[in-house]
Amino acid sequence: MAVIGAGIAGLATAARLAVAGHPVTVFEAGATFGGKMHQFALPGGYRFDAGPSLFTLPQLVDDIFRLAQREPADYFRYERLDPITRYFFADGTQLTAWAEATKFATEVEEKLGTPAAAVTQFLARAGRAYDATAGTFLHKSLHKAGTYFSPETLKAVAALPQLGLLGTMHQRHEKAFGNDPRLVQLFDRYATYNGSDPYQAPATLSMIPHLEHGIGAFYPEGGIYAIAESLNRLATEFGVKFRYNEAVEEIIVADGRVTGLRTAQDVYDFGRVVSNMDVVPTYRRLLPREPAPERTLSQPRSSSALIFYWGISREFPELDLHNIFFSADYQRELKSIFQQKTVADDVTVYVNITSKKTPTDAPPGHENWFVMVNVPHDQGQDWPALTQQTRAAVLRKLSQALGTDIRPLIATEKIWTPPGIAADTSSFGGALYGSSSNNALAAFLRHPNFSGRLEGLYFCGGSVHPGGGIPLCLLSAKIVSSLINEG
Ligand SMILES: Cc1cc2nc3c(=O)[nH]c(=O)nc-3n(C[C@H](O)[C@H](O)[C@H](O)COP(=O)(O)OP(=O)(O)OC[C@H]3O[C@@H](n4cnc5c(N)ncnc54)[C@H](O)[C@@H]3O)c2cc1C
Repeated sequence: MAVIGAGIAGLATAARLAVAGHPVTVFEAGATFGGKMHQFALPGGYRFDAGPSLFTLPQLVDDIFRLAQREPADYFRYERLDPITRYFFADGTQLTAWAEATKFATEVEEKLGTPAAAVTQFLARAGRAYDATAGTFLHKSLHKAGTYFSPETLKAVAALPQLGLLGTMHQRHEKAFGNDPRLVQLFDRYATYNGSDPYQAPATLSMIPHLEHGIGAFYPEGGIYAIAESLNRLATEFGVKFRYNEAVEEIIVADGRVTGLRTAQDVYDFGRVVSNMDVVPTYRRLLPREPAPERTLSQPRSSSALIFYWGISREFPELDLHNIFFSADYQRELKSIFQQKTVADDVTVYVNITSKKTPTDAPPGHENWFVMVNVPHDQGQDWPALTQQTRAAVLRKLSQALGTDIRPLIATEKIWTPPGIAADTSSFGGALYGSSSNNALAAFLRHPNFSGRLEGLYFCGGSVHPGGGIPLCLLSAKIVSSLINEG
């Protein structure tokens, strides 16, 4: 069988299927594997992870090695982060998000004045909501009748109102921490973990912080790329063939079923094809004559990002691996992204510095800064102008918060924009996480992991069920391989 694309979901799917005994060929348009999870170097000795930087649920990677009866640590190692994130608020307040919930809650009480109990109760509730719902909404296909008739699903649906998960995420946070807008902003930010808007996204997403404070945030030894590297190694050991620089141009179908693939180089026979390409271009470009599920494909996209990769010629001991510099008016910033489809003049800036954990990622005395701003997906905006405006705003914010002019410290630079992300990974509009979760039904409106019309066609990756981000991409691979293995 064939997999189109060697993103994290394509790698995990290929590895799982090969371990189950299927012969698998992966076609990758690019020169190597990883997709959004690729790495690159900049002159002067800096290494960067290009895309994802925050890693949760590492057991989903371990599971694949265990399935193969291999020791996970022989392929892939990681450490639990503590602290997780350093926050810098616009009013000058600084806060450290410690991993352990009670220590974090104490820090909140000391720095922001909100009673620690409000935070511990909120996180405990998030944990209960996650435990009640994840098994149904994330680990299974939502498009198979069997999922709905299980007692587990009925339990999950019944739990939602009791868990206070009706309304929007922002409403939920206002209810919990209404007298502290900074804490509301901190928890609202978790909507951006899947490219959504807390003012529209359902309160069910308020369970995301549980992943960090209940289960843990992790750093893979050597950086995020190590995840892709370890799965590529396992897949290769189990006989998966990787054909790089070979973009699939057509999925060939006859009599309602998949019969093969066409690339610029050749035509291949395959009875089963898994597309790890974004679902929109899969239909538009690879299946142009087949009826497409228009309602599904027209769901609003998640946000994209502007990323500045900077080699910085100094060290900043006050910074950690994950650092957030908040805007003064989050509602205005998010309205710019999701309603006005532009970038506000005051933005929240995320700075990820892997050289804090992997010193060889930058020369001694230097740091590798991955500086990211959430922006709308590409709809033809003037990106050169927005990039210039945002770069200036980011430099102003960071220089002010850190009390040092950052501009002269930038030794080398690369920039990734929404059109660049779209061109490099075929993601529709450069959206980071496929469709957004900006309405209560979004989970049900994502494309299923299989085609209801074409036998032998399957889908994995961030643009289909259960959604974007590393853990959900890994779960899409698990669902697809179960669908194939169970016939
Ligand atoms: C800047 C950025 C920051 C992010 N931050 C985080 C984070 O902190 N934590 C997190 O969990 N997630 C994060 N994400 C999201 C995460 O990276 C993605 O959800 C995930 O990597 C998507 O993987 P995927 O398997 O769906 O496909 P992709 O990574 O999009 O890979 C798809 C692959 O398919 C190939 N392809 C496409 N079309 C064809 C074709 N026709 N023929 C052959 N090959 C083709 C592409 O070249 C690509 O290699 C971030 C993403 C970005 C870009």
